[in-house]
Amino acid sequence: TASILSPEKIVLLPEIKAGCPLADMAPAEKVKNKIKELPEAVVVSYVNSSATVKSLSDYCCTSANAVQIARSIPAEKEILFLPDMNLADFTAKKSKRKIIPWPGFCPTHHLLTRDDVIKAKELHPQALLLVHPECRPKVCNLADYIGSTRGIIEFASNNLVKEYIIGTELGIFHPLKKNNPNEHFFPASENMICQNMKLITLEKVLHSLKKLEPQVIVPDDIRKKSLKALNRMIEIG
Ligand code: SF4
Repeated sequence: TASILSPEKIVLLPEIKAGCPLADMAPAEKVKNKIKELPEAVVVSYVNSSATVKSLSDYCCTSANAVQIARSIPAEKEILFLPDMNLADFTAKKSKRKIIPWPGFCPTHHLLTRDDVIKAKELHPQALLLVHPECRPKVCNLADYIGSTRGIIEFASNNLVKEYIIGTELGIFHPLKKNNPNEHFFPASENMICQNMKLITLEKVLHSLKKLEPQVIVPDDIRKKSLKALNRMIEIG
């Protein structure tokens, strides 16, 4: 996305294998076929999708603005939402739009179960549960707040409650604790670690900055087509 929006800038990916398994669940050829089956549907793709899938989409969205993007689409239109079925479910409930979910999921968020959450709540009965919308609907149903990474951090910062159970990738604990040194945060599951994100180490970042490689280069035709969906997202919010 950074390279599509700013082709004149150098965009580095310090570890070439650090892709997103969620994005890989929506291969471009399958998405093309689905779009042919649903010619009237508006296609909304989460930014965690490939550049080619973005180029096939009408709108992009983030977890922070998915509901706003869906609400901007006329209510009578069907929306093909991809690649995350859990974010699609959350967006459909909040926006009251007719959403056809693509059957993908983030392996890290999808592994959090209702039972994990119930156990965490028993251990920390005073804590509020804050989860990311990539979690299963059964988990989201138990949450006090559902939002993006930034939304979760802001919620904790703006709230007087001192204890929180967190249902998202464990990397969030660093900024959460930094921003809220007097509050207590507990993981809903210790297993919520994205192995792909963890492939990017400080050493690899340093190496990448020194060598200025590997660079992300999006072919120009795909970049130009993807810009439409990304710019629409930016205009709406
Ligand atoms: S946590 Fe990992 S798999 Fe899940 S959306 Fe983020 S990068 Fe993709």
